[in-house]
Amino acid sequence: MATIPEPANATVQAVYRLHEQRDAQAGHRAHLGASLIGHPCTRYLWLTWRWAHKEAFDGRMLRLFEAGRQFEARIVAELRAIGVQVSEVDANGRQWRVNDHGGHFGGSLDGAALGLPEAPATWHVLEFKTHNAKSFADLKAKGVQAAKPMHWAQMQTYMGLTGMDRAMYIAENKDTSELYSERVAFDPVEFERLRARALQIIESPEPPPRISNDPAWWQCKTCAMHPICHGEQAPLVNCRTCAHSTPVMDGAGGWRCERHNTAIDTGRQHSGCAGHRYIPLLLERIAEKVDAWDEPGGNAAVRYRMADGAEFVNGAPPHFSSVEIRAAKHKAMLADPQVQRIKADFPDARMVA
Ligand code: SF4
Ligand code: SF4
Repeated sequence: MATIPEPANATVQAVYRLHEQRDAQAGHRAHLGASLIGHPCTRYLWLTWRWAHKEAFDGRMLRLFEAGRQFEARIVAELRAIGVQVSEVDANGRQWRVNDHGGHFGGSLDGAALGLPEAPATWHVLEFKTHNAKSFADLKAKGVQAAKPMHWAQMQTYMGLTGMDRAMYIAENKDTSELYSERVAFDPVEFERLRARALQIIESPEPPPRISNDPAWWQCKTCAMHPICHGEQAPLVNCRTCAHSTPVMDGAGGWRCERHNTAIDTGRQHSGCAGHRYIPLLLERIAEKVDAWDEPGGNAAVRYRMADGAEFVNGAPPHFSSVEIRAAKHKAMLADPQVQRIKADFPDARMVA
C-alpha cells in the first residue's frame, strides 16, 4: 500500500490549532465562576478573577473539555427520554444563569429537572461532569462532596442562588460510559460561607496570602500561578491587574477606571492602556513598593526597591511600562543603571525581553 508522505498528522495538528485559536480568542472569563469557588486556594481565585494569568491548554486538552460539554446534551436527551422534565432556560426564557455580588460572581447551570425517579415532585439543579476511570472510581467510593469538593460547592452555589434545595449530580466514566448519579441536599451554612468567600475576593484590592510560602508545597507545585506566586513572573497586563481599576457593584459586573474616570467594558479590560500600573503586591516577588506619585499629565509613577536596594519605576517614559516589566526576562535589568541611562537618553527605547 502506498504511504502518504509527511508532514505526519498535519490534519490532526490543524484541528488542534483550531481549538487553540478559538480558546485564545475567547479571552478571560469576566466573572468569578461558581465552578471555581470551592478551590482550596483563595489567592488562586483572586489571581484568576483578576486575569493575572491565562492557562494555555493544547488543542488535545481543549477537545477533551469540549467532549465534556457534549456529554451534557446527550444526558439531557436521555433524561427526557425516560420522562424527566428538563428545563435548560429559566422563567424568563434565558439560559439558567445565576449572579450575585453585583454581577461579579455566578455561573450557568446545566439545567433544572422535575420528575427524577428518586424524587418526582422536587425540582433539582442539574450538574453533569465527565471523569477518567480513576476519578470516577474515587467518586463512586467517596461521594461527590469528598471526592469532588469543587463540584459540590458549585452545586451549593446554584441551589442557594436559585432557591432549589436539591441537586442531581450525574457523572460519566469517559472510558466505559458508565454513569453515576447522586442527589445532593442544600447546605445553607456552606452556601453562606461560599458567598462570603466570593465577596471577600471581589472586594479585595490586593491578592490574598499564599496557601503556602513553600514553592514545593504540593498544591503550589502543579498550580498555574506558581511562576507568579513563587517565581519572578509579572502577571499579564490588563485592566484587572492595574491599580487604577475597581469592580463596581452595579448588578452587571461592571468595572471603573479611576485614572480615566470612566467605565471600562470587558473588551477594553483585556487590552488595558499605557497608563497601566501594577497593583504593587503583584510584584512582591520582584521588588517592594517604596513610593508613588503623580507626574505632569496625570501619569502615575510607582517606585520599587529590589532586595539588593536597587530601584526602578513603573511609569511613563523614561520609566518602565508594565509591559516592559512583564517582558524583562531578568528582572535585575530593570534596576540596572546602564539600562536606565539608555532609557533616559532614548525615551522611545523599550525593554522587550
Ligand atoms: S501557587 Fe500556591 S499560593 Fe499561588 S495560587 Fe497556586 S496554590 Fe495558591
Ligand atoms: S489606567 Fe488603563 S489599564 Fe489601568 S484601569 Fe485604566 S484603562 Fe485599564
